[in-house]
Amino acid sequence: MPFIPGSKTKPDYDVIVVGSGAAGGQTAYVLAAAGVKVLMLEAGRRYDPVSETPMFNTTHYAPLRGVATSDKPFGFFDATVGGGWRVPGEPYVVKRGAATTWVEAQDTSFPTEQSFMWWRSRMLGGRTNHWGRFSFRMGEYDFKPRQRDGLGIDWPLDYRDLAPYYDKVERLIGVFGSNEGLENTPNSSPGVLLPPPKPRAYELLAKKACAQLGIPVIPSHVAILSQRQDHQNIPKMLHPDSPAMQKALTENMKTRLACMWATSCTRGCSIKANHQSTTVHLPPALATGNLDIITDAMVREVSVDEAGRATGVYYVDKESRQDRHVKARVVVLAASGCESARILLNSKPAQFRDGLANSSGKVGRYLMDTVGSSMSGQIPILENAPPYNEDGASTMHMYMPWWKYQEQAAGKMDFPRGYHIEFSGGRAMPDGATFSGMGDFAGGSYGKKFKEDMRRYYGTFVSFGGRGEMVPNDDCYCEIDPAKKDTWGIPVLRFHWKWSEHEERQAAHMQKTLAEIIESMGGRVLSPPQLDGKKAIYPGGSIIHEVGTTCMGTDPKNSVLNQFCQAWDVKNLFVTDGGPFVSNADKNPTLTIMANAWRATDYLLEEMRKGNI
Ligand SMILES: Cc1cc2nc3c(=O)[nH]c(=O)nc-3n(C[C@H](O)[C@H](O)[C@H](O)COP(=O)(O)OP(=O)(O)OC[C@H]3O[C@@H](n4cnc5c(N)ncnc54)[C@H](O)[C@@H]3O)c2cc1C
Ligand code: SF4
Repeated sequence: MPFIPGSKTKPDYDVIVVGSGAAGGQTAYVLAAAGVKVLMLEAGRRYDPVSETPMFNTTHYAPLRGVATSDKPFGFFDATVGGGWRVPGEPYVVKRGAATTWVEAQDTSFPTEQSFMWWRSRMLGGRTNHWGRFSFRMGEYDFKPRQRDGLGIDWPLDYRDLAPYYDKVERLIGVFGSNEGLENTPNSSPGVLLPPPKPRAYELLAKKACAQLGIPVIPSHVAILSQRQDHQNIPKMLHPDSPAMQKALTENMKTRLACMWATSCTRGCSIKANHQSTTVHLPPALATGNLDIITDAMVREVSVDEAGRATGVYYVDKESRQDRHVKARVVVLAASGCESARILLNSKPAQFRDGLANSSGKVGRYLMDTVGSSMSGQIPILENAPPYNEDGASTMHMYMPWWKYQEQAAGKMDFPRGYHIEFSGGRAMPDGATFSGMGDFAGGSYGKKFKEDMRRYYGTFVSFGGRGEMVPNDDCYCEIDPAKKDTWGIPVLRFHWKWSEHEERQAAHMQKTLAEIIESMGGRVLSPPQLDGKKAIYPGGSIIHEVGTTCMGTDPKNSVLNQFCQAWDVKNLFVTDGGPFVSNADKNPTLTIMANAWRATDYLLEEMRKGNI
C-alpha cells in the first residue's frame, strides 16, 4: 500500500488517521505494525527530506542571505512548507489588544497579551520536519499537578502508565541524553538513550556559573542519532510479535546515519539522523503494506451513522477541490491540538448539534502553550578565543531542568509551576543576521579594525530561554468563528487568550534568573531584565507548544476523552495529538504526544480485537 490519489481509495479501511505529524505518524506506525489497514489523510503536500533538504547550502544561495521574512519566519532554509504563522487561504481569528474586535491574524506584528499565535505547517510529517527535537519526559509530579498545589487538572493516568511507552518511543526515534536521577526529571530504562555529545566551551562556562547559583546543568535530551541505532535488536524489542514490522524497521534503521554535527537541523536531515515523521515513522509503516496515504486532503468533518458511531470522514481534495468521503471502522484525529478540535466542532450531525464528542462542552477548552521569556548576554571571557573545534548539534547539548520543586512545595515561591532553561551560543555557521547585533560592540569601526572586532566578538554571545508550565484557565480556548471560512469552505477557528498571574510571575522570575546566570558568567546582559511579568512573557502560542482543547479525564461530564484518548460520546473516535493534555508541563510536549499516542493505539487495537469497536 502506498501514496494514492483520492480516486483510488478502497471502499473501506480499518482505521482512518487524520494528520501525519508526530501524533499521526506514531499512530499509523503502531496500527500498520499490528496488521491493521490504515488510510492516512494529510492536508499538506508530499514531502521527502532525503531529496528536498538543502543541508549544505550556505546562506549566499538564499535571498537576503537567508534571513527571516514574513513567509519564512525561521529563515529561508527552514523546512516548513506551506505554512508558518500564516497558512495561505487558511486564516484564523484573534482579538486585537484589549478591544472587543475580532480580526484575522495577519502576522507576528499583532501579538498582544490577549492574542494567540498559531503555527501550522502543511506538509507530510507536519511540524516534525523542523521541530527543535528537545525530548524531555514529563515526571511523576507533572501528571498530578492538582494534587501538589490544588490548581489545574490531574491527568487520568500517571507516570508509570506512560514510562514503558517513553522507552519505546526513545528507542524508535533515537534520543541522546543521560540519566541524572534528578527530582521529577525521569531516567530512561538502561540502554535506551544514546550517548550525549560533549559540551562546548560556552556550555561548560554556563555550567560553572550555574554551580554557584545552585542551578543544575545536565546533558540535554534531543531526538538526534549521536550514533547509529542497533538495528539488529531494537526492532525485535519493539515488535516481538510482528516479523513483518521487524523487517521493515530494520531496513529503515539501516538507512539512518549518525549525525555528522555540521548542519542545521531546522532544515530537516537528508541522512535521517534526526527525528522526522517522514523518515522515522512513515517509511516502515508504508513498507508493511498496511498504510495508504493521501496528501493534499483537507479533512473537514467526521461522518456518523444514526447510532452516533463514526463512519469515516469528509475531506476536500485540494487539487480538484472536490469533496470526498472515505469510510472506516475507526477514526483517529491527529491533526494537532487545535485542528482536531476544529474538525470536531465542525462535525454537527443531528445527534451532536454542538459538535461531535462535545456533550461536556469542553471541546476547544483549556488551550495551553509554554511560558517563554528570554535574555541574551555578551561574555568577555570568550573574546578573542583562538579557533577551536565546536562541532556539535545545531541545538543545545546541555540544559537546566527546574530545580526549585521543594521551595514551591513549601510555599516559598510566588508562582506554582516550574520552568527549565534552554540556551545557545558558539560559533556556528553565520547567517545574514549574525553580525548585525555586533555593531554596537564594534563602536562604528571600519576596515581592518572592523574585521578584528568581528573576530573578537563572534562567538561571545549566549542566549537563554526560560520554558515554563502554564496552568490551564477558563480564558484560553478556541471556538468556531461564526462568519469566516477558509478557502476550502471550512469554518475557521477563533482564539481567546489570557495569561494568568501565575505565568506572568513565572516569566518575571525567569528574567531575574537569566540575568543572574549571565552575570555569573562574567557577562553583561544585552537589555536589562524585565521584571514586569506582563511585558516579560511571550505571546500565547509563540513557543509553538499548543496543547489541550480535547481534554482527557475520568468523568464524561467534564472531559472529552477517556485516559486512552477515546471519545466518551463516540466509542470509535480517538484523538491522539496534544489535544488530550490537561496540563502542559515545562517539558516540551512532543515526546509525550508520541508516547501517549502509542499507548492509546495499543488500547484501540485491543478494543478492536475484542470486538468492542
Ligand atoms: C520551530 C518549532 C520548534 C519546535 N521545537 C520543539 C521541541 O524542541 N520539542 C518539542 O517537544 N516540540 C517542539 N515543537 C512542537 C512540535 O512540533 C509539535 O508539538 C508536534 O509536531 C505536534 O505534533 P502533531 O502531530 O500534533 O502536529 P503536527 O506535527 O503539526 O502535525 C499535524 C499534521 O496534521 C495535518 N492536518 C492539520 N489539519 C488537517 C486536516 N484538517 N486534514 C488533514 N490533515 C490535517 C497538518 O498538515 C500536519 O501535517 C516545535 C515546533 C516548531 C514549529
Ligand atoms: S546536525 Fe546532524 S541531525 Fe541535524 S541535520 Fe545535521 S546531520 Fe542531521
